[in-house]
Amino acid sequence: MGNGAKAAQKRERNADKGAAKGSKSQAKVNEAAKSIVCATCRQNFLITTRAPALEEHAQNKHSKTMAECFPGTPK
Ligand SMILES: [Zn+2]
Repeated sequence: MGNGAKAAQKRERNADKGAAKGSKSQAKVNEAAKSIVCATCRQNFLITTRAPALEEHAQNKHSKTMAECFPGTPK
């Protein structure tokens, strides 16, 4: 009788299913939400980047204002 072995196999497969339930895709979504993108050159900045740093980028790289390069970014 190989019933015992079959049952064990089934249990193992179910365990694998549970382990595969990762949150990789969620991490990707979070990463996208975390970035500020320069509208002029598409460079990415962390959402934690301070306004002065963004302003510096806009002025030094494009001779533009922060509002032009980063519309929608709170001051
Ligand atoms: Zn830029």
